[in-house]
Amino acid sequence: MSPDWESVSAETVSRLQAVIRFDTTNPPGNELPLARYLETALRDEGIETTMLEPERNRAVLIGRIRGNGTKRPVILLAHMDVVGVERNRWSVDPFAGEIKDGYVYGRGAIDDKGMLTANLMTMLLLKRTLSETRGTLSRDVVFLATPDEEAGGECGMGWLVKHHPELLDAEFALNEGGRTRIIEGGQTYLAVQSAEKVSHVVTVTAHGSAGHAAIPLPDNAIFRLARALETLSLYAEPVMLTGITRKFFAELAEVWPNDVEKKAMIDLVSGDPARAEAGAGALSRTPVFNAVLRNGISPTVLEGGKQFNVIPASAAAVLNVRTLPGHSIDKVVNRLRAIVAEPGVTIEITHRGEEAPASDPDSEMFAALAGAARELDPQMAVVPYLSTGVTDSARLRRLGVKAYGVLPFPMLQSDEERMHGSDERVPLKSLDFGTRLIYGAIERIAR
Ligand SMILES: [Zn+2]
Repeated sequence: MSPDWESVSAETVSRLQAVIRFDTTNPPGNELPLARYLETALRDEGIETTMLEPERNRAVLIGRIRGNGTKRPVILLAHMDVVGVERNRWSVDPFAGEIKDGYVYGRGAIDDKGMLTANLMTMLLLKRTLSETRGTLSRDVVFLATPDEEAGGECGMGWLVKHHPELLDAEFALNEGGRTRIIEGGQTYLAVQSAEKVSHVVTVTAHGSAGHAAIPLPDNAIFRLARALETLSLYAEPVMLTGITRKFFAELAEVWPNDVEKKAMIDLVSGDPARAEAGAGALSRTPVFNAVLRNGISPTVLEGGKQFNVIPASAAAVLNVRTLPGHSIDKVVNRLRAIVAEPGVTIEITHRGEEAPASDPDSEMFAALAGAARELDPQMAVVPYLSTGVTDSARLRRLGVKAYGVLPFPMLQSDEERMHGSDERVPLKSLDFGTRLIYGAIERIAR
C-alpha cells in the first residue's frame, strides 16, 4: 500500500518549516533543540530513538525501525547544522521557513534540512505503513541526524565513528552529496555520488636572502615563489578515468542536450585513444567536468613578508590538491617538484587527506534508487557520480558501509547554486519528489 501523497506533501512542508526555524548556524551549531524536535516526532509514532550528546548543546539523534535481520541495516543520514547567513543579502528571514512563489525559503532548505525532513517523513511513513499492514522489513532502517558537518564533523560523524562505531553497522547509507539536476530542455538526471575526491594541503615555500628593501636581491623569495606559481599555473595533471567517471560520462551522454559536449562524452569513453583525448580536451573546458577528469590543484592562500621595506627570508603559497580516489598524493607532489625547477623552492604535503573506497554503482541500493527515480519520472537518467567535494560519506565508506549521496530535489543549476549562498530555497514540487524518491528507495531496499 502506498501513502496518501497529498496529505504527506502538506505535512512535509510544515515539518521542513519547523526544522528551518531552529537556528543551527555552525559555529556554534546548537543542534540539541532540533534533535529534540526530531526525537519527539519519531517517538510520537512509536519509533525507538537514541540521543547522544558529544558536547554541550550538540546532539546526535538516531531513530531505528527494526527489521527481521535477514539483511544488514540501511542508514538515512542528514546533518542538522547549517552555514551562516549574510542577512542583508536575503529577501526573506533565513530562519522563518517562508513560502513564496512555490518555494520554501530558508537556510538549509537544500543543505541539508530538506533531506533531513525527507528522511524523517520516510521513517514516519514506513512506520505508519508497517502498522497498518502488520508488515515487517528485511533490515533495520536507521535515521541518523548529525551535528557539525559544516565545520568538518569532528563533533558529529567523526565523534560517532570514534566513540560509537557499533551504531554505524550497516550495509548501505543514503546521504547528501549528489544532484537531481534539471537540464536544458527539461530533462532531469539523478547523479548518485558513489565516490569522492580526497582533499590534501600542499605548501610551496620559497627561500631567499632577507635584507633591506633598498638593496634589491636576485634571490628574493617572493619573486622565486611567483616563478614557481607561474609554472604551476600552466600545468595540469593527466586525465584519468575511474570506473565511476567512465560510467558517469557514458550514461550522461544519453540525455545531454548540448551536442558538442555530448559528442565529447561519447568520444571520451570510446576506448579509442585519439578520440578519448579529443573528448577529454573538449570536456576539460567546463570546470566541473575538468575537476572530475584529473587531480586538481587550486592555490588558496599566500603568505610572505610583513613590512614594505623588509625583504622576507621566505614566502609560501598553500595549494588545495584534490586527488581522484586511488591516486597517490605523493606521486602528484613528485610531479610538481619535477616541473618546478626554481632554486630555493620546496614543495611539501602539510595535510594528507584520507582515502575512502568507492561505493559499488551496481549494488542493490543503487538499483533501488534508480527504480524509485524511474517510477516518478520514466525519462530520468540515473548516473554514478564522483564528487569533488568532501562529505561524511567518506567516513562511512572507510567503515565498509556502501554510502551513496543524493540531493533528491530536482533543481535547476541556478537554484542549486544558492546552497551556502543567499535566498536558499527548495521548490515545493521538488520537495515532494525528493520525499517520494527517498521513501521509494528505502521501501525497495528494506522490503
Ligand atoms: Zn551539507
